[in-house]
Amino acid sequence: MASPSGHGESTCVAVEASRIGENARVSIPQSFIQELLSRVDVVDIVGRYVQLKKGGANFMGLCPFHGEKSPSFSVSPSKQFYHCFGCGKNGNAIGFLMDHAGMGFVEAVNDLAQQVGLQVPDDDVSPQERERANAQRQKQATLTDVLEKAGESWRKHLRDSPRAIQYFKGRGVSGTVAKRYGLGYAPEGWRGLASVFPSYDDPLLEESGLVIVSEEDAGKRYDRFRDRVMFPIRNVKGECIGYGGRVLGDEKPKYLNSPETPVFHKGRELYGLFEARTAVREHGFALVTEGYMDVVALAQLGFPNAVATLGTACTADHVHKLFRFTDTVVFSFDGDGAGRRAARKALDGALPYATDTRSVKFLFLPAEHDPDSFIREHGTEAFARHIADAMPLSRFLIEASREDCDLTTAEGRARMLSNARPLWTALPDGALRRQLLSELAGMGQLDAKDLAELWNAASAQEAGRLPHRGGASAAPAAPRIPSAAGADSNPYADEPPWGASAAEEAWYPPSDVGHGAGVGFERKPFRKDKGDWKSDWKGKSKWKKDDRPQQPQQPPLPRTPAASRTDHAVRLLLSHMEFLEDLTHEDHATLCAQPAPHGLLFTWLEGQFHEHGPLAWAVLREALRDHECEALADRVMTGSHAQTEGDEKELRWELRGLLNRMHVESIKQQQNILIQAATQDPAALVRYKELEVRRKALLDNGQKLDS
Ligand SMILES: [Zn+2]
Repeated sequence: MASPSGHGESTCVAVEASRIGENARVSIPQSFIQELLSRVDVVDIVGRYVQLKKGGANFMGLCPFHGEKSPSFSVSPSKQFYHCFGCGKNGNAIGFLMDHAGMGFVEAVNDLAQQVGLQVPDDDVSPQERERANAQRQKQATLTDVLEKAGESWRKHLRDSPRAIQYFKGRGVSGTVAKRYGLGYAPEGWRGLASVFPSYDDPLLEESGLVIVSEEDAGKRYDRFRDRVMFPIRNVKGECIGYGGRVLGDEKPKYLNSPETPVFHKGRELYGLFEARTAVREHGFALVTEGYMDVVALAQLGFPNAVATLGTACTADHVHKLFRFTDTVVFSFDGDGAGRRAARKALDGALPYATDTRSVKFLFLPAEHDPDSFIREHGTEAFARHIADAMPLSRFLIEASREDCDLTTAEGRARMLSNARPLWTALPDGALRRQLLSELAGMGQLDAKDLAELWNAASAQEAGRLPHRGGASAAPAAPRIPSAAGADSNPYADEPPWGASAAEEAWYPPSDVGHGAGVGFERKPFRKDKGDWKSDWKGKSKWKKDDRPQQPQQPPLPRTPAASRTDHAVRLLLSHMEFLEDLTHEDHATLCAQPAPHGLLFTWLEGQFHEHGPLAWAVLREALRDHECEALADRVMTGSHAQTEGDEKELRWELRGLLNRMHVESIKQQQNILIQAATQDPAALVRYKELEVRRKALLDNGQKLDS
């Protein structure tokens, strides 16, 4: 597994301190969640992102989770629940914000609470802190309003500026795309915004980065953006948080961005992500480019799934954010030296997230091209081919390691290995990492075993110097013979991107799980307060009748196989929290959908992982004090079954087997819902059959697993 120095650090950097949820803990009382869900309207929430039309008692629209031409996505105002008959996605308002808008749980709860004017309770926060957080939230809302207002005026100016229109036309940008990205034009003149806001002296204009206050010239104020075409930068919720401005000619600086403000953090935001979200899902990958003009031009040319970093290198934060929307990321870089340097930084950012179920690729354009000019010269198809042939992360890691190393000499090979070690160490454990060890060893003319020992010793030495990060073991993975499958994968292919051998593959589910059988968050136990979980489910879902297979009842906890299976999954994840990194979207959904307290504990653990990375059980134990899941955690982590010692690979497989069996249960439940709906909706029957295939595959795997 990953050593603490590599993986741990990066995870720490990657913590996405959600602006709103910074101080919030994940221990939000269920009663509050219930109160919240009773006050918000899922139709409004979904309606912010999906165009909905009334059809009978429900609202229908095009599913945002899968590509479709006719609507099979239904939102029920009476059940406060959405459901797609095409892909099976379903859930409540919180689940929608998490799944579609890419928010974390706490962030989604805060977002909804803010909309209905509720205060998220948090006992750990002092009144002063809460006051401060409130003030900060107010400030942020005000700043985005101010920014939005400036954008409106710039959009108007664009209509009146033939020069700016000509600029966009010259880049092939249509009115439709300009509108979608909210493009505008900041006119010439020093105080253009003075006519937009009631007071040009308002400190908010400076704080939002729109106005610069001169230090030399007696505090003279002037517009930051003058005579530039303007690109609003939106967060995943669609709020305007900053701007990029480009000159129309060749003046310098060519690009100008908003400064860091309370709402805008360059290292975290990706230009175009809000606009690209749906396309990223439809195309199956996100394309990361170097600038906002690339994004807009690519959208125009048939690649609406492009995003860009904002004049900064791609950070681990960026990568982490992208992986909330897709399992495949393709970085595109201009073919010049700057492009290669940027690619090298993106590699560093991507390594900690390159699990076996994800695919990261690097596309290098010919030296004279950016994506826009490349497509213009060679066409859309050539570009798509280029993307398909992009360099896999494994290849780039090796290229980067051997750069300037003469592999015909022992010195050169040693240097190559020393370059490779930090990169390899940053990878999460898995088939990819283990194969790379063998490959690098081969290049260095060492036995994989020798190399593992060498790096093991180096890591141990470092671990002695560095503070040890909880949970993570410092030992590098055991050497392993690479499989024939290799790590190359095509982002369009349905093949699992990990290079598992045929024998191992049986242990894993197919790779389409992220968008397939996810059960959403509808059954998340946070819906359950004191009441009965089963009746809660029945009350909320119209897509099922009462003949659903029996669920573990509680309390008290039953000793059914299902319950002990879930117990064991809890145990494995509490003792090896880093396993969370391997889980698919479907795994997460299934775990979190387990009845309380298990599901609640999984949700909590996921929140901890998101904020802190993998933690040791001792640390988790402390964090669980007085938590409602404390008793469950204590029970599974003590007593005769509590040992989870053994080969880490075996433990991972054990977890895989448990999860597969849980998926089978969850699929059965979905099938029961679908079979009811099938009398009126042929799509439900189709989906039923798809799930049947999936269920059978999982069962087959399960048998292999048991034997
Ligand atoms: Zn769908």
